[in-house]
Parts: sequence; C-alpha cells; structure tokens
Amino acid sequence: MKKLDLVIIGGGPAGMAAAVAAYEKGVRNLLILDREPQLGGILEQCIHNGFGLHRFKEELTGPEYAARFAEKVAEYGIPCLLNTMVLDLETESDGTKIVTAVSPQEGYLKLNARAVILAMGCRERPRGALNIAGTRPAGIYTAGAAQKFVNIKGQMPGKRVVILGSGDIGLIMARRMTLEGAKVEAVCELMPYSGGLTRNIVQCLADFGIPLKLSHTVVQIHGKERVEAVTIAAVGPDRRPIPGTEEKIPCDTLLLSVGLIPENELSRQAGVEMDPVTGGAVVDENRQTSIPGVFACGNVLHVHDLVDYVSEEAEIAGKQAAAYLDGCRMDAEMFPVSGKDGVRYVVPQRIRKGAAPFALYFRVGDVYRDVRIVVECGGKTLVSRIKKKVAPGEMETLPLKAEQVSQIDGLVTVRLEQKGAE
Ligand SMILES: Cc1cc2nc3c(=O)[nH]c(=O)nc-3n(C[C@H](O)[C@H](O)[C@H](O)COP(=O)(O)OP(=O)(O)OC[C@H]3O[C@@H](n4cnc5c(N)ncnc54)[C@H](O)[C@@H]3O)c2cc1C
Repeated sequence: MKKLDLVIIGGGPAGMAAAVAAYEKGVRNLLILDREPQLGGILEQCIHNGFGLHRFKEELTGPEYAARFAEKVAEYGIPCLLNTMVLDLETESDGTKIVTAVSPQEGYLKLNARAVILAMGCRERPRGALNIAGTRPAGIYTAGAAQKFVNIKGQMPGKRVVILGSGDIGLIMARRMTLEGAKVEAVCELMPYSGGLTRNIVQCLADFGIPLKLSHTVVQIHGKERVEAVTIAAVGPDRRPIPGTEEKIPCDTLLLSVGLIPENELSRQAGVEMDPVTGGAVVDENRQTSIPGVFACGNVLHVHDLVDYVSEEAEIAGKQAAAYLDGCRMDAEMFPVSGKDGVRYVVPQRIRKGAAPFALYFRVGDVYRDVRIVVECGGKTLVSRIKKKVAPGEMETLPLKAEQVSQIDGLVTVRLEQKGAE
C-alpha cells in the first residue's frame, strides 16, 4: 500500500489550490486524485468569462482560471492520478487514513495517508427530486449537463428551451443557448427572487430579453418521445401552484437548474459529521472536519457563488493540513457558531479557542434590504456591518480581526437586524 502524507480528493479549483498551498508549506509527499481525465473540475466546461475578478482583478474564463492553478501544480511537480475514482475513505484506530480508488491505469488502489483534503465539489439536483407530472421524454437535462454538451461536445440539446430554476448555471445557460441559436422562452423560478448573482440576471437574461418569471414553476411536461411543451403556473406564498394561472409553452427542451448538492458520499461513509443545512462537513476555522487530519474545502463544503472564495478557502485547508502534518494538533476547546434571524448557515461551524484571525462565510434565507449584520458572543457585539441588500444567491463574508477573535469565549451567533423582508 503506497504511503503518502497528504491525499487530495478532487482536482478542481479547490483541490488544486489546496495542493499548491500545502506544497508551499513544505508538504512534498502528496497526491491529487480526480475521476476526470484532466484537472480543473467544473470550470473546464464554464467557457464564459467572469472568473477571478476578486483574486486576479481580471475577467477570466473558467478554463483560464483553472489553468492558473494547473500551471502551479505542474511547476511544483505535484503528482496527480487522473481518471481515478475514489470509492472509499476510512480512518484506522491510529489515525491513518485509507483511501480506496479505482482507475483504468492502476486498477484497484489502496493508499495510506496521514491527512486527507476533501475537495469533491458538488452535483446538480436531478428531475427525480422535483415530482413534476408527465412522462419521461427525451429533452430534459440539468443545466450543467446541457453546458457540457454545448461547450465540450459541440452538440445542441434543443432549439426551443424553457429553464426551470434561476441559479447561476440556469442563467448562464439561458445566454449560452441563445448565443448558439436556440430560443429561450422563459426562465421560471419558484421563489420570489432569483437564486443567482445579480450580474448574471442582467448579463444573461435582461441583455437578451429573456423573461424571468419569479414565483412560477413547471407543473407538467408534455410529450412522449420528446418534450413537446411544458405547462407553467404561478405559485403562492406557500409555493403551491395557483389554479387558473397555467400557461402551456411549446418547447423541445427543459433545462433544470434547481440546486446543487455537495458530493459527500465519501465524507459520510468516512463518518465525518455533516451540517444538514449546507450539506457539507462541519468544520472549524482551519477547515478541519470532525475527523482529525481530514479537511474539506470548496463546493463539497458549501456551495460557493464565486470560485475566488473557493480558492481562498482551499488555501486555508492546504496550509492547515501542512500544519497538521508538522505535528500541530487542532484539538483545543471549540466554540460553536450559528446563524439566526435570517442567517441560514455559517461556515465555519466551530471556532477553536485561541484561533488566529479568520473570516465567516454565510448565506441568508431571503432577500433583505438595509440590514445590519451582527456577530455576537456572550452578549457582546464582535463586529457589525451595514448592507444595502443581502440575498440567498450571494454568499456573504465577514472577516474577524485578532482582537475580535480573542473575545470569543462561547457560542458565536451571526444574525441580521433588518427593517423588513421583501
Ligand atoms: C455553470 C457554472 C457557472 C459558474 N460560473 C461562475 C462564474 O461566472 N464565476 C465564478 O467565480 N464561479 C462560477 N462558478 C462556480 C465555480 O465553478 C465553482 O465554485 C468551482 O468550480 C468549485 O470548485 P470545486 O473544486 O469545489 O469543485 P469542482 O470544480 O466541481 O471540482 C470537484 C472535482 O472533484 C472531482 N471528484 C468528485 N468526486 C470524486 C471522487 N469520488 N473521486 C475522484 N474525483 C472526484 C470531480 O471530478 C471534480 O473534478 C460556476 C459554476 C458552474 C457549475
């Protein structure tokens, strides 16, 4: 069994940034595993621009952004095993991690690692999770699958399209399909607000005259062999279709952009404690999970809006995995962190006593205007910030300075003081 110091599962932007950061902190016996034939993760199919504005102050395409990290991986000579699917992760009683994987070149592999970074990204929620009435005709795709067809395989999934869900992938694909000659009839969104970034609503829908139907859903899919139409309807505050508002839209394709699910089958099998809200692991500010020596970062931990934050978070995991390998044990007393009054979740979910300065990442559950974000501990306000608008589609970040962190001695809460929800 090959012995390694650090195994990184996933070679997307998170896995690559974590590997580079660990290498820069002196880890040499490391390995990146990815089931795809190349590094880059989901970015390889995101050929639109808009990546890296925060980090590189440039508008890069997804493959360009990924290439910046892949070049570093190559420059440092960090080994990668591609076409390699990780099947299992176990921790032995002495803390050693056993990673089981399979690949066409190497066959069935067992690797012995002192530390592991989970960076498996996320996958799209499929039709089966939606309970839409109708048959099972061809022409129903997740937006990401359609993106792969168009951008990687050069094939158009259809000509007349309805999109359900206004997350970023749905918005990006509305524009992409239009640019490739399809007619996008509408983007329907169950909620009264979009799940995507404002800049994508403007640049992908408004600029192309594509209607965004908020508080609408698809109630029926028509067609036997191929999608022929969908019926959409308005929904009330209870998110149920309002009878009499149905509208039948002829189309040959329905794209679904109805949410992302962190890929945590391996983490669960390994016994990592999970957060039911994020769908990812519970971590401390070092991104260490409940299993010492197992770290998590990127979309497998929580769904990020911008890849820049994925890289930032992965660097924390990479550096801290290196510190763990150097003998630094992160077993100090932990204080829990939780969101309330409009804050849906907060990462990290725990903070170690005596932690170094760090940032809180969180998402809100509704659209709020003119709010004050308040971080409190033991009745004291550690930090607060006023925001004109916060929305579920945009991740919020709040850095804590050393003197604020030093005041943490119990439960930390992040909450909104608001004038009113929309
Ligand atoms: C359509 C779309 C548009 C986007 N647009 C933007 C944008 O404009 N700007 C922006 O900043 N961000 C954008 N993003 C977000 C950005 O792409 C993600 O935040 C980022 O790719 C997440 O990185 P990751 O490494 O966590 O996950 P991923 O990129 O998903 O990488 C995970 C990797 O893990 C591998 N893996 C998973 N499980 C296993 C296993 N068991 N064994 C081996 N390998 C495994 C996968 O093959 C994959 O390569 C967009 C995302 C999508 C999908």
